[in-house]
Amino acid sequence: MSVSEEFIRELKYKNNISDVVSGYIDLKQKGKNLAGICPFHIEKTASFFIYPSNESFYCFGCGKGGDVITFIRLIEKLDYVESLKFLCQRSNMNFPEDELSNDSYKQKMAIYKINRESAKFFHNNLCSLQGKSALEYLKKRNLSLKSIKHFGLGYSLESKFSLVNFLSSKGYFQKDIIDSNVAYKNRSGQIIDRFSNRIMFPIIDIRGNVVGFGGRSISNNNPKYLNTADTIVFKKSDNIFAMNFAKNSNLKNLILTEGYMDTISLHQMGFTNTIATLGTALTPGQVKLISRYTDEIILCFDSDAAGQKATLRAIDIFKQNGISSKVILIPSGKDPDEFIKYYKDESAVRFKELIKNAAADIEYKLLNIKTKYDINDAGDKIKYTSEILKILSNIENDIEKDIYCGKLSTELNISKESIKSQLSKYFKKISKNKNKENILPHTLGYYAKDNQDFSLKRIKAEETILTYIINNYDITDNILPKVSENLFGVNFNKKLYSALKTLILNNRDLNLNNILSEGFEVESAGRITKIICDYKREYINKQVIKECILLIEHENQRAKIKDIQDINSAELKNYIITLKKTKQ
Ligand SMILES: [Zn+2]
Repeated sequence: MSVSEEFIRELKYKNNISDVVSGYIDLKQKGKNLAGICPFHIEKTASFFIYPSNESFYCFGCGKGGDVITFIRLIEKLDYVESLKFLCQRSNMNFPEDELSNDSYKQKMAIYKINRESAKFFHNNLCSLQGKSALEYLKKRNLSLKSIKHFGLGYSLESKFSLVNFLSSKGYFQKDIIDSNVAYKNRSGQIIDRFSNRIMFPIIDIRGNVVGFGGRSISNNNPKYLNTADTIVFKKSDNIFAMNFAKNSNLKNLILTEGYMDTISLHQMGFTNTIATLGTALTPGQVKLISRYTDEIILCFDSDAAGQKATLRAIDIFKQNGISSKVILIPSGKDPDEFIKYYKDESAVRFKELIKNAAADIEYKLLNIKTKYDINDAGDKIKYTSEILKILSNIENDIEKDIYCGKLSTELNISKESIKSQLSKYFKKISKNKNKENILPHTLGYYAKDNQDFSLKRIKAEETILTYIINNYDITDNILPKVSENLFGVNFNKKLYSALKTLILNNRDLNLNNILSEGFEVESAGRITKIICDYKREYINKQVIKECILLIEHENQRAKIKDIQDINSAELKNYIITLKKTKQ
């Protein structure tokens, strides 16, 4: 998506940075500039400044800064294009849509307006005499008036024409009303409200637009839940309920539930990082949206069989997308909503406890299998072991694997060795079939913490050499002499290399446990495992290693050029010699 510079200029002009920021924090004049308490980090004295002459902001406390678009990106947690759209809406500008013609842009806007009007209409119904029983229902479910307002809940009247009449009286076109799916045309050509006698949950996108509705029946009308069908502004499979609030919660993880009511109840208890799927099984589009805001999800589904199945499925989908899951285990088979009702005022404290004790994904899977078998029965015991091994063979961390093997050995009274040998058979079978790309976990996270400035290529080259050494240890005689500790710039890699060298000199295996015993903290296990199991390890050969070494040497020389004024004549001489060598 490309937008013109003129467009950006106009957008910034119409969204003056001081005006926009003052919608979020209080600003005080300081000379030519404005200052306030930074919204991005916790502070008592103002170190956040607005420079109107440069149309920019900068925080001396946390180092965040930029223009009005950056500010919106950071504070609303939107991507670039969404931030532009956000500012467009704020200043009543049209967004230059790439593919969409102007007509469809206008239609989209009309549908947003219809949805917003409908949400207001539903909300007013709920507060009127006709909405009395609906309101009572919500109160019985322990929702406060504050929550009802916050989420804009409403009620669709029993009459099948009330919303259509209301929207028509406001001048909206029939076509737009039908296209927004708040109404439909029946066989005899009448236009009828889609929702009637239902509690209405507006679905709001991350930019704050009402894009659709979920409606819960309060009579015996089927289906129990009815959602807006897909429209040009709403795709059910790409939306998440309450993400508009949860994205601003500033908590490191998100809690995913199955329902509107669970989510609203949890928000009311202070868990504002709670979201819900829209009554469907989790979709890739929803996972993608979630992955923009967190890499840890806490699953809080119903305790019944369907809920358990959905949990297992969600764990796998999230894992494939680099998001780790934990599972909240609600005691005595209660649903989140029942749990809240049961514990009343105590529920927030109790729920916090549940989050603290949430099971890791593997643990949950193991618990789940256990419920299916009677391990005192010999036949069951074999089936149970085989299912467990299947799961353990997917664990990438050797230590973790070892711990679970130990647990299983005690539980089943089988020797740890035979469990491990069975496991390695499984692992071989699986790694043959496994999509190689899947072994690549959170690649860049480690380097972000290193605080060292190297190119990605360089980092990868260093890792590739290490991967090769570990996996080809008996034939490294030719390679080892060519590699020196000084080749490695990344401190971690340097340390790992010297650990490998020590192990080789002492004739010891280059496995994770031995490597860790060379002075690594257990936190390093994941990082070392990643290097050991590099998904391209089969393709790394001597030629690749030669190229890696050259690349690193080249980068080292370039770094030296920068420091050339500091080097003494002997170093300079050496440098010129190596330079000549590489040119040959
Ligand atoms: Zn700051």
